[in-house]
Amino acid sequence: MAMTNQSIGETCIVCEQPKEQGIHIYTKFLCIDCEKEIVRTDTVDPKYRFYLQQLKKIMNREIYS
Ligand SMILES: [Zn+2]
Repeated sequence: MAMTNQSIGETCIVCEQPKEQGIHIYTKFLCIDCEKEIVRTDTVDPKYRFYLQQLKKIMNREIYS
């Protein structure tokens, strides 16, 4: 239970929490928890729209930068 953990990973684009495990989409980071959530979430679920919006933000930024 060390309190000196400096490597908290990267900030996830969807949950905006620092996570250690995840994948990179372009230059952005998506944690493994959110990735699983997105895959599990039904496309008619309002949550799915939120996830898509977050992901679109990444795509747009990369295209227009
Ligand atoms: Zn996340």
